[in-house]
Amino acid sequence: MTNSPFVMVPRDALRLMNASSRRLGNLRFKLSEADGRFVVDAVETSENTFVDVRPDRAFASLTWGDLTRWGQWARSDSPDLAATYLLLTRRPNGALPFDALHQMVPGTDDPGAISGLLIVSHEDVPPELRAAGMPEFSGWLIERDGVVPFPVHAEPDEFGASQLTGDWPLRQLAQESITLVGTGSIGSAAADALSRIGVGELHLVDPDRLLWHNLIRHRLGPESVGRYKVDALAALIAERDAETNPATRTTLIPHRLDVVEHAELLRPIIQASTVVLCCADGIAPRRVVNHLARLARTSAIFACVLNDGSIGEIFRSRPGRGRGCLLCHRAYLEANGWIDPEADQELGYGTGSSHKPMTAIPSDLQLVGQFAAQATIATLLESRQGMPGSRLPSDHAVIGLRPVAALAGPFGVSAPGEVRWSEVPPPRAVCATCSLT
Ligand SMILES: [Zn+2]
Repeated sequence: MTNSPFVMVPRDALRLMNASSRRLGNLRFKLSEADGRFVVDAVETSENTFVDVRPDRAFASLTWGDLTRWGQWARSDSPDLAATYLLLTRRPNGALPFDALHQMVPGTDDPGAISGLLIVSHEDVPPELRAAGMPEFSGWLIERDGVVPFPVHAEPDEFGASQLTGDWPLRQLAQESITLVGTGSIGSAAADALSRIGVGELHLVDPDRLLWHNLIRHRLGPESVGRYKVDALAALIAERDAETNPATRTTLIPHRLDVVEHAELLRPIIQASTVVLCCADGIAPRRVVNHLARLARTSAIFACVLNDGSIGEIFRSRPGRGRGCLLCHRAYLEANGWIDPEADQELGYGTGSSHKPMTAIPSDLQLVGQFAAQATIATLLESRQGMPGSRLPSDHAVIGLRPVAALAGPFGVSAPGEVRWSEVPPPRAVCATCSLT
């Protein structure tokens, strides 16, 4: 038995078939022999007139192919054909004689000595067959010893975040604005996650350019070395969204800002945001964001790796909830005699001579970035959309990344993958940041 062919039909080809007044015509395919993939390349729309397929999105792979093959397309309203397709595709090695197919689709070419591909667009399919899983298109490989059904992969009208159904509040998310401070390894993973679920607006804040040593852990690739991370990341996501998420794309606004030097420029950006996600490393930028977010009465999520990359930490600051800010939390750790693993944050990963090498592997930072994006969305949905089901267990999470001796207090995770949530204490009376809210 021949292997089932893998056949793709770009949307433009579907349009050409639908617009034709005929019920049957020829098709030209590009065949990429290396991966056994057929793509419809031209459609016969009227007698002997072939129109080239022009994909309206830049799926480069759809234009690949070293060989040309011919086949046919047909429109059918035969419920028998649909029922036969469903039945045969559910049977191992299901096939039918050519004559049986020819009766249901008159005009089908006799394969003779070579095999042919037929793509059928099904009209007026009875609802019970649709419910049983009958797709819009069926494929038929016509060979001398029988006709074998195969699935047709037709490009849908819509895909991307708009596919997400159920309780996912796409329309509300499209109205939200998030500020992301720090677009390094963790921040770029978070930006990717946030844009994929249809957040309306994402402000990217980072003063740094991408360098070679960033490549191992960053979403950006070698083509972006030397560019500002915020610009390159905004361009990368916008390009991806244009092709794969056209209906719910995120507006990306890059800001080449150092939050410590230009706090006054960050202030209005944070004020206009629903949530701030701070993935910047270094104590100073985190403290500036902590202060500005409280000042703007905006919730903020802080994500980083600590203790030489052996644990990830998510801290959430929410004004008006009776919980302390980042500084209050640090003071609380200190007062309890627990190690403050933030203290080794001041230097970049593995850059200082007295600094232990940063051992977090790329997936550790991706994990923390994705976790932070999840916490950001949960915060946004809980506070703005009144979806209490999204409530996080608490405001401080420590994620085990590497097996190391457990630290004290809330940092005491002992295994990779372990997540420990703990409560954040009330604000200190002396906190200049918390007294703002
Ligand atoms: Zn505070």
